[in-house]
Amino acid sequence: MSEAIGNILDLVGNTPLIELKSVTAHLKNVKIYAKAEYMNPSGSVKDRAARAMILHGIKSKAFTKDKILIDATSGNTGISYAMMCAHLGYKAAICVPKNANLERKRLLKAFGAQIIETDPLLSSDGAVGVAKEIALSEPEKYFYPNQYANEENPKAHYNSTGIEIWRQSGKKVTHFVAGAGTAGTFTGTSSRLKEFNKNIKTILMQPDSPFHALEGMKHLASSPIKGFHDESLVDEVVEVNSEEAHETALRLARDEGLFVGFSSGGNVSAALKVAQKAQAGSVIVTILCDNGFRYLTDDLWEKR
Ligand code: PMP
Repeated sequence: MSEAIGNILDLVGNTPLIELKSVTAHLKNVKIYAKAEYMNPSGSVKDRAARAMILHGIKSKAFTKDKILIDATSGNTGISYAMMCAHLGYKAAICVPKNANLERKRLLKAFGAQIIETDPLLSSDGAVGVAKEIALSEPEKYFYPNQYANEENPKAHYNSTGIEIWRQSGKKVTHFVAGAGTAGTFTGTSSRLKEFNKNIKTILMQPDSPFHALEGMKHLASSPIKGFHDESLVDEVVEVNSEEAHETALRLARDEGLFVGFSSGGNVSAALKVAQKAQAGSVIVTILCDNGFRYLTDDLWEKR
């Protein structure tokens, strides 16, 4: 049994970097690579931040077995928390907007988490208000990691995602493209990459409207809660509309065999726009944030 795994939190990170070959066929001398974050144990990039926040909570004794982890999420962080709490023997209560998709809510239930549904019109910002209110009303009952303000979130990416991309690209990465929910991924990864090489361009993908269909991604201009968004790390903003993101997710499935969600479609759409005007020799890296199974009931996949 010497190769058996005792703790599934050890499976977080060290995801593969995959070269996109088909959706990039029209490009000359520019490569796009995608970090397969959907291969993390719960199926999303948020495992990195959740793991760091939970372990920090346990180490600092803020999170003990008599407490319930409570936090707000658009879904993915909640699923990461719920999976890890189930594995470690802790309890979790997850505040999600009522309109989070069926897959997210079912997964939370499967992992035994309590779901607290919040006003869909206020999206993830509404969930933050509810989580905060509950946590502050009974601090002895709850552990509130608060992913929008917990430094362990961007630090997880600074200490892992950024280093992995630098190493896996053979130190050749020239551009990093990603969207933002809490902006933990973008800020943590970008700051580490710029330390390795200050000439690396870090490009923020943004949905083109506040009313977009990229679950988990924020339209920062219209959102009061900006998490770890740091303008000084944004070299350029590339806008993507929901149709493009959906179409690219479908192409990733059909032409690359990569079954990933719509924020991944958004990131790759933005990376393709960056590639159109990038110099020959550019190496663009982006993030495949979560697994397509998390969107399985969407009939987009049946499109001919
Ligand atoms: N993609 C999806 C589907 C997400 O749920 C999230 C987090 N809400 C992200 C991307 C962005 O991650 P981060 O919070 O690190 O900005």
